Amino acid sequence: MIYPGPVARLIEELGRLPGVGPKTAQRLAFHILATDIHEVQRLAEALLAAKAQTVNCSVCHNITDVDPCRLCRNPERDRQLVCVVESPKDVAALERSHEYRGLYHVLHGAWSPIAGVGPEQLRIKELVDRLKAGGIVEVILATNPDLEGEATAMYLSRLLRTLGVKVTRIAHGLPVGGELDYAADDTIARALQGRREM
Ligand SMILES: [Zn+2]
Repeated sequence: MIYPGPVARLIEELGRLPGVGPKTAQRLAFHILATDIHEVQRLAEALLAAKAQTVNCSVCHNITDVDPCRLCRNPERDRQLVCVVESPKDVAALERSHEYRGLYHVLHGAWSPIAGVGPEQLRIKELVDRLKAGGIVEVILATNPDLEGEATAMYLSRLLRTLGVKVTRIAHGLPVGGELDYAADDTIARALQGRREM
């Protein structure tokens, strides 16, 4: 063991975060150790509060601190439109573009046989239930334009058409393999405007 137990533990925990390799984990750990105790406390409290004070919205499954979430409660949103996305980050990206005024449905992933994620692991049954409850005219599929996102969109378009709802797919203004939350706001706006019926 090169580092004292508590330091090794911190490095190990940081290293579990996505995109954080051993070197970055070590750098972050030593940054935290060199930081004022009050600042470290604020970070620790923010981590716990974010986890403890949020849930998935019972309607759209977006992350929220009030249930139903503020988007689902907002009387100014168009309730005939539902945009299907992979993650809460995608909702944030679409909201930043200021182009969309409908509601959302967050799948929490995409169909990926390699990663062992099938339709039953996604919030698809919940989406079907929402559509069966009526009032929704169009479902916009805004899953990522990569292999998993396209497979998910194909699966959903076949499934949802049987429910008598219009199913559209956002245009491919996005770079292939790109993720929605990295796209520029005007790119997202164009992708929405150029959506086509599937
Ligand atoms: Zn919601």
